[in-house]
Amino acid sequence: MSDSFAARPLDRGAPFYVAGHRGLVGSSVWRKLESAGFSRLLGQTSAELDLRDREAVFDFFAREKPTNVILAAAKVGGIAANSTFLVDFLSENLRIQVNVLDAALAHGVERLLFLGSSCIYPKLAPQPIKEEYLLTGHLEPTNDAYAIAKIAGILHVQAARRQHGRSWISAMPTNLYGPGDNFSPRGSHVLPALVRRYDEAQSSAVPLVVNWGSGNPRREFLHVDDLASACLHLLDNYDGASHVNVGTGEDHTIREIASMVADEVGYTGETRWDTSKPDGTMQKLLDVSMIRELGWRPTIGLREGIASTVSWYRDNIGAVRT
Ligand code: GDP
Repeated sequence: MSDSFAARPLDRGAPFYVAGHRGLVGSSVWRKLESAGFSRLLGQTSAELDLRDREAVFDFFAREKPTNVILAAAKVGGIAANSTFLVDFLSENLRIQVNVLDAALAHGVERLLFLGSSCIYPKLAPQPIKEEYLLTGHLEPTNDAYAIAKIAGILHVQAARRQHGRSWISAMPTNLYGPGDNFSPRGSHVLPALVRRYDEAQSSAVPLVVNWGSGNPRREFLHVDDLASACLHLLDNYDGASHVNVGTGEDHTIREIASMVADEVGYTGETRWDTSKPDGTMQKLLDVSMIRELGWRPTIGLREGIASTVSWYRDNIGAVRT
């Protein structure tokens, strides 16, 4: 893991494929790349290109010949979905990433960024979690299937560097939120779930909200537009074997997050906690010194980010994924 070099900024005119450009992360990356002057962005909806279909993925790469790729396509979900649909999370994510990474290798992609997740780290990792803690202990069981797929992706990228000299890199974001998120009660992560639950309680004057778990776990939240800026920063400035954590370096209890969301939507009723629902890991705060040393830090504060997510949700309530 010692080959860490400065990179050359990407050519803004080269074809750039954003895999998963309609998702929370991919759509934000797309907006960021457009505003940074990339003129040949490539995106395919899942109806146009099923990334689980290996032949279709190879045909796409042969036809479009992207120079650069961000792999933001994945099957994702919150604690309930992850711990229920284990086979789907493992199998779909492995297939998507193996197809895209193999096709990228076969068709000469120069720079590629693979996106993972902070759940790749051991459940009981020391906090804050450094990149080197990967594979030093057992995973959190509520998301181990998803985590194993993501760990395979990190290794795949490192293998392409070692075996074929590719300048490919990986980034591990902490819990993400923002516009375009999944607000469906059973599939969503905690922040969009709370936005929806408190907003519905406030608008229909329900006096009691019940959230999952004890409220005591701590989570670090990053606005997805900050992640998109980190992705471009890494591609322009970093070419090393180690994956790079992307976060804020600060965390809060779920109880504190719930109270911020309640304040933002104007909910004044009671909140209770359903401890029959899983807490998941108690803390997963990333050590962000590596990306800070590379010259990047987030710019969107949590309260500001929650406020803009609430207003996005209210404006798009009819169109959000249910
Ligand atoms: P995690 O970070 O992988 O555990 O994923 P989540 O974002 O789904 O959950 C984070 C924490 O929020 C867990 O401790 C959940 O129990 C808690 N939580 C509280 N209410 C909810 C909810 O309505 N939905 C989800 N997904 N999590 C909730």
